[in-house]
Amino acid sequence: MVRTFFVLFTLMKRVVVIGGGLAGLVSSILLVRKGISVILFEEKSYPLHRVCGEYISNEVIPFLKRNDLYPEKLEPISISRFHLTSPSGVSLNMPLDLGGFGLSRYAFDHWLYERALEAGVKFYQDRATHCVFDQDIFNIQTRSGQHLSADVVIGAFGKKSTLDKSLDRTFTYKRYPYIGVKYHARSHEADHDAIALHNFRDGYCGISRVEDGKFNICYLTARYNLRKHGSIPGMEEEVLFKNPHLKKIFETADFLFEKPEVINEISFFPKEPVHDHILMAGDSAGMIAPLCGNGMAIALHSAMMLSELIQLNIENGFDRQKLEESYQIAWNAAFRKRLQSARNMQHLFGAAYLTELAVLLNKAIPPLAAMLMKRTHGLAF
Ligand SMILES: Cc1cc2nc3c(=O)[nH]c(=O)nc-3n(C[C@H](O)[C@H](O)[C@H](O)COP(=O)(O)OP(=O)(O)OC[C@H]3O[C@@H](n4cnc5c(N)ncnc54)[C@H](O)[C@@H]3O)c2cc1C
Repeated sequence: MVRTFFVLFTLMKRVVVIGGGLAGLVSSILLVRKGISVILFEEKSYPLHRVCGEYISNEVIPFLKRNDLYPEKLEPISISRFHLTSPSGVSLNMPLDLGGFGLSRYAFDHWLYERALEAGVKFYQDRATHCVFDQDIFNIQTRSGQHLSADVVIGAFGKKSTLDKSLDRTFTYKRYPYIGVKYHARSHEADHDAIALHNFRDGYCGISRVEDGKFNICYLTARYNLRKHGSIPGMEEEVLFKNPHLKKIFETADFLFEKPEVINEISFFPKEPVHDHILMAGDSAGMIAPLCGNGMAIALHSAMMLSELIQLNIENGFDRQKLEESYQIAWNAAFRKRLQSARNMQHLFGAAYLTELAVLLNKAIPPLAAMLMKRTHGLAF
């Protein structure tokens, strides 16, 4: 009897997830599997390419395997070495403590989308334009004119969304100088078992293998470089190719996209894990600088934390304030320091002479590099 009541109560609570990247897909799957009704709004259709280095820290493997979400079938590539180069081409090679795997978002997100459909997540391909909390209920409005209500909303809409503006989040008032560019390519020159981070003036380029013998080539740089050199190929020739490793790889690679994927206005400004009662997961709660290579691990980890707390809270009678407080505490304890350390490192890797110095220092004192890596990476969960 008590059990029946509990199951009914659980089913009655409606969770809406906005955004179907890693954070949104995984939190939906976990909640639906616990009998909670979930509707997910994703504005794009799967499969899709995303600007991302596609190197996933192994800290996620126990979680994925425990939940039958490790995409073995997609043949992820194991990566156990780190190769760092300075703008002038000085190289540092080191083993990775925990390591990671390479898998394209095109394949991984689509595979998770299929798991979510199987589990019973209800998808709407639509953009949420407004989400207003009033009298203990959320009212969500979409671009196509749908109106929907929800008891709990998970904001998993990534680094920047039009929804951030309508929610009046403070970081949307700032302009950000970074752009991200990504390719898939075949290459004989790139490292086969390493995640490489090749630095250049005002940026860095990550290169590592993904499935099917392809390489991900993804870089972050200052927007003014693009303005100054007029085009992406022009900027690559004038700025990136000053690093001899990048010049060799770019000039010999066989690029597989007609044109690169590009994103603008990438922000590492601190955000809040809860805003207007919306529980934020993944980049919506805060984005770690890409040079650390573990934004995806954080997206998955925050999705796990959040869905467990929502489930527990619903089981115990649903107390919104308690849910928000416990999530904020858990999120801050797990991620705030890591994001701050990554922001500091991001500044270091912006200026050419500092990067040169940092690579030389890390080469001379290997424990320093290991310490920097530890500060931005989490433990297996
Ligand atoms: C240049 C670069 C390189 C990176 N390299 C790495 C790397 O090698 N390893 C790593 O671990 N991390 C890397 N990251 C970070 C990683 O990509 C992110 O941390 C990760 O994608 C976050 O996942 P998410 O689910 O929070 O957001 P996303 O994957 O961005 O998903 C958000 C989703 O929300 C949807 N959406 C947005 N607004 C709305 C709306 N209003 N309505 C409906 N849908 C909406 C979007 O279409 C999108 O599908 C990199 C990031 C950048 C910029």
